[in-house]
Amino acid sequence: MTENEFDVVIIGAGPGGYVAAIRCAQLGLKTACIDRWVTSSSTASPGGTCLNVGCIPSKALLESSERYEQMQLHASDHGIDVTGISVDVPKMQARKAKVVKDLTGGVTALLKSNKVTFISGHGVLTNQGRVDVTLSDGSMQNLYSAHVILASGSTPISLPGIEVNNETIFDSSGALEFQNAPKTLGIIGAGVIGLELGSVWRRLGSSVVILEAQESLLPTADPMIAREAKKQFTKQGLDIRLNCKVNKVQSSQTGCVVEYQSSEGQQKLEVERLIVAVGRRPYSNGLLGPECGLKPNDRGLIDVDDKCESALPGVWAIGDLVRGPMLAHKASEEGIAVAEQIATGISHVDLNVIPWVIYTHPEIAWVGATESELKASSVDYNAGIFPFSASGRAQAVGATAGFIKILADNKTDRILGVHLIGKQASEMVNEAVFAMSMEATAEDLARTVHAHPTLGEAMHEAALASDRRAIHKANR
Ligand code: FAD
Ligand code: NAD
Repeated sequence: MTENEFDVVIIGAGPGGYVAAIRCAQLGLKTACIDRWVTSSSTASPGGTCLNVGCIPSKALLESSERYEQMQLHASDHGIDVTGISVDVPKMQARKAKVVKDLTGGVTALLKSNKVTFISGHGVLTNQGRVDVTLSDGSMQNLYSAHVILASGSTPISLPGIEVNNETIFDSSGALEFQNAPKTLGIIGAGVIGLELGSVWRRLGSSVVILEAQESLLPTADPMIAREAKKQFTKQGLDIRLNCKVNKVQSSQTGCVVEYQSSEGQQKLEVERLIVAVGRRPYSNGLLGPECGLKPNDRGLIDVDDKCESALPGVWAIGDLVRGPMLAHKASEEGIAVAEQIATGISHVDLNVIPWVIYTHPEIAWVGATESELKASSVDYNAGIFPFSASGRAQAVGATAGFIKILADNKTDRILGVHLIGKQASEMVNEAVFAMSMEATAEDLARTVHAHPTLGEAMHEAALASDRRAIHKANR
């Protein structure tokens, strides 16, 4: 093979693309990975949305702000006097930036150590098996490859007439960069980003109003979890207004005025800053040359089969660019599966067992079917619920809010869904994902020894509760 010929060329080095590249290289395929993301100092920054402006920076700020709030509100519960504490937002941001820099640098090092050719530039699929790259200095490089994996990710959806200006109106990327907490913050959209970033800036001192178009919060979550979440967030001071449709945003002297329609009629909300967090759309701008024979569908997605292969043989697409949830771990699993499919002809990703996590406090996590979905499809099920208030560890650490709910088939006892709201739900959901991937029954979980005292014992008790034999709560 010549220098510009590869077994696989990947466009995009987010958690889909860079993971696919590493797995391809592990399997002995000569691999190139192209990414256009650069820092303000023009350094290549692989890792995609996830590492640069998504999962990682948001979790860094969620952790810092949560520690601040815990110290303010709960240190005294433990007999710790922390009067006079203050927060230094620029320092918090500098820590976050270092975490991002270390991790994106880590991806560069991983690609290099796996002998993946990393190219910083913009890639276009010009033809089946040919990718043209515009390098950062403006020069071109043409690559040839039997397989091309498209992994160009997604971008925030904008609302007509509400333009992000990064002064008063921001998208999620801008909202991760605030150097101080605005006095008043409006957010359009009470989805995952609205709740996570709303939590960050509320904890750091902003008065936060979230305007949500739908009539219920988190409609894809289990309704019982969504109700508990609304209760907890409202108690914390997040002002979540449901059934509110934003019509117009106008600049004001101190920020902007948001005009919206609620059940009580036309309303106005004046805020210093506004975040637009109404979802993301697949990103394929400049990805597909006119001759390549592939076009995104009406929703901007690349249509793929269950192996992630597009209508063009040898052209694959993964992650946020294709159907399924827009989550980093889903993108990575697809990246691994495509690499294995190319190298061995065997692969598998089960989209039914992709976990969701919302990193608020308490955290929300789930995998599988919700109770409303089971009811809608007339499945006969047992529900086992265990509240953290009955867990010894939760009492000891002061994290008694929330519960775990396990839904199991009434006939076979197979686990159909697991729903958590509580501290460390993000960690505990992995046990449920493993159990469901192994097609386990609730009885399997009930017969699995869980270490004491752990929050995970609530999973064990919820499994017992599905058979009305929980030990640490009354069974009804
Ligand atoms: P991306 O990560 O978007 O990567 C695509 C890459 O392709 C980018 O680097 C882009 O520069 C590059 N690219 C695009 N076009 C070209 C081209 N033509 N040539 C070269 N390069 C190109 N998910 C979770 O699972 N957990 C979380 O906690 C979480 N938190 C999030 C928080 C926020 C604020 C946001 C915005 C998202 C969050 N997500 C989270 C979603 C997650 O970031 C995405 O699902 C994930 O990054 C998708 O991975 P991907 O590889 O498909 O695309
Ligand atoms: P989302 O789809 O989670 O939520 C968007 C919300 O905005 C919805 O509730 C929707 O009803 C509402 N909305 C839409 N248009 C509106 C309007 N005109 N007025 C008022 N409300 C409106 O989208 P998001 O929060 O922007 O996040 C995008 C995606 O990024 C998520 O779906 C997820 O895939 C990913 N993400 C994941 C995590 C995580 O895993 N923890 C965190 C952040 C983002």
